[in-house]
Amino acid sequence: MINNLQEAQNCLLCKKPRCQTNCPINTPIPQVIELYKNGEIEKAGEILFNNNPLSVICAIVCPHERQCRGNCIRGIKKEPVHFHSIEEEISAKYLETTKFEKPESNGIKVAIIGSGPAGLTVAFDLAKRGYDVTIFEKNERIGGVLAYGIPEFRLPRKLIDLLVARLLDLGVKIKINSIVGPVVTLNKLFKDGYKSIFIGTGVWNPKRLDIKGETFGHSHYAIDYLKSPQYYSLGKKVVVIGAGNVAMDAARTAKRNGAEEVYIAYRRNFEDMTATKHEISEAQNEGVLFKTFEAPVEVVDEGIILARTEKVEVDGRSSVSIVPDSEYLFECDSILIAVSQAPKNTIVVNNKGVDTTKRGHIETDEKGHTTKEGVFACGDVVLGASTVIQAVNSAKIVSESMHEYLQEVAEEAAI
Ligand code: FAD
Repeated sequence: MINNLQEAQNCLLCKKPRCQTNCPINTPIPQVIELYKNGEIEKAGEILFNNNPLSVICAIVCPHERQCRGNCIRGIKKEPVHFHSIEEEISAKYLETTKFEKPESNGIKVAIIGSGPAGLTVAFDLAKRGYDVTIFEKNERIGGVLAYGIPEFRLPRKLIDLLVARLLDLGVKIKINSIVGPVVTLNKLFKDGYKSIFIGTGVWNPKRLDIKGETFGHSHYAIDYLKSPQYYSLGKKVVVIGAGNVAMDAARTAKRNGAEEVYIAYRRNFEDMTATKHEISEAQNEGVLFKTFEAPVEVVDEGIILARTEKVEVDGRSSVSIVPDSEYLFECDSILIAVSQAPKNTIVVNNKGVDTTKRGHIETDEKGHTTKEGVFACGDVVLGASTVIQAVNSAKIVSESMHEYLQEVAEEAAI
């Protein structure tokens, strides 16, 4: 159990805080720690929220070892300051105790498609500026990956409920079970009077392994599994393919849902895994077993055929290749595939004018303008599978540019 006051006292309050400069959203960490030490929790909460409306979420799910904690000067000789734990306490308290005032409406309607970290950030920002904001979310719960990907044991859902309560304070309208694309089109939204549309629909198509047998009944995509793991019967022995966040979450969830033996098979070594060290060690502590330098070759009824791999240099670059004749059958009851995701692009397919890149991501400039006038986008649907903090950070830039655009539209209408 972390003692937050002790953590705050441990902070060296550096003049050039590396924790802050290595935070993608530049959280004013020393300032917040000072306020915390002085008992000014509400002020600290306000500063954190205004800089990052999803502060309470990032405090839990950010890869801290690569950001604030990993760059803490104290960590060179001693234990680094666990700022994220202080941030979580302050931000949760702020959202619990502060009821927001609904600002005076400017009468301008904005549609937000998708309620993940990107959509929520834009919704908070524009609602605070007086826009009439409506969120369209295709699922019944708000939060995107926060609700349907990251498991509850890592991220308590009550924190998302707090964010929803604060959005409602600001007058944001939330339409759940409302997919935009096939029936409600972008042009229909414009016709109904929305002056600008934000797309933050994320990446929900699993990437295929492209091996034989991948569609068999005992082989599932981890991103689908994590939406409702309670309905799957995976059996006793499960193999997860991949070694990112999604793979770790799927493996740990499978363990919690009754699988006795869970393996993560990965074609490289531990240092190449994209999951954080923390996630990897949590999985290990919970008994997940790792098979490194192993690649999937074919899914068969009895399990999966794996092959050993080795590192090789190709044109001066490190790569992996399969060791000849090393294939073997690894018997298991189920396979979960977690090798990244791509956008579903329901909107793009059904609506002309929003261009995508070769990889299917929505094409935007650095301020989030898509190729269709008045339509903006950011988050995973633009960046590809990324992190919560990157979605929030890009959403801050995009909501600013939507505001600029909407002011111009309003000025033109007044002439
Ligand atoms: P999303 O969170 O994907 O939200 C998109 C929303 O749009 C969804 O609610 C979706 O239902 C909705 N939507 C889609 N299409 C439509 C439509 N046509 N109409 C209406 N609504 C639509 N990042 C971290 O920083 N730390 C972690 O620990 C971490 N763990 C992860 C674990 C898993 C299992 C996964 C999958 C991802 C994880 N990530 C993590 C990545 C992070 O969650 C994403 O980068 C982030 O959620 C992206 O936010 P977003 O708003 O762009 O998209």
